[in-house]
Amino acid sequence: MEKKQFQAESKRLLEMMINSIYSQKEIFLRELISNASDAIDKIYYKALTDEALRFDKDSYYIKVAADKENRTLKITDTGIGMTKEDLENNLGIIAKSGSLAFKNENELKDGHDIIGQFGVGFYSAFMVADVVTVISKAVGSETAYKWESTGTEGYTIEPYEKDTVGTEIILKIKENTEEENYDEYVEEYRLKSIIKKYSDFIRYPIKMDVTAS
Ligand code: ADP
Ligand code: MG
Repeated sequence: MEKKQFQAESKRLLEMMINSIYSQKEIFLRELISNASDAIDKIYYKALTDEALRFDKDSYYIKVAADKENRTLKITDTGIGMTKEDLENNLGIIAKSGSLAFKNENELKDGHDIIGQFGVGFYSAFMVADVVTVISKAVGSETAYKWESTGTEGYTIEPYEKDTVGTEIILKIKENTEEENYDEYVEEYRLKSIIKKYSDFIRYPIKMDVTAS
């Protein structure tokens, strides 16, 4: 297992996310579903030019699964997946979308709206989770990998067993505090309403699976 540090900029954004007082934490799900959808788009476009790949529409979907007992939320996609290098380069580095640069310029004039409008991507998972695990197998790749992070200390990466191409993101939902209750992020009706609110336009089916405690 390899242990790595985040780059300074990423670390800053992570800290912001972990300690976020942003009231609409629910947008993390919009971000993860949009990444899943992007990943399926990528395998779709690849299939257009790659004879070896067939895009069978029925086998492409996003699944949101909550496990109340273990307090986990899992977002699975059958998209293009990530290699070890992708996991390191894409999940460890920030500001490609420019939202952080924008934030610097407008230094918290209205930080809340900036998060809402631009999206903060993958790291927004840390608003509701204290451990984020990403298991992914890239198309054309033999080995799958597990990337895991508890936040600012960095992340670990190791080979992992996964048969199918695609990505699984597992969030260990935070324990409730006096100020904040996170139970809703493993509640079916709540997850459904968040999906309806932000991800209604997603072109792929979003399946739902809730295991009660
Ligand atoms: P953005 O979507 O704006 O690029 P994110 O922080 O949301 O920024 O995601 C960073 C990158 O991580 C994505 O561009 C993509 O390369 C990779 N990524 C994230 N989630 C997935 C996923 N489910 N499948 C494949 N790649 C992903
Ligand atoms: Mg994104």
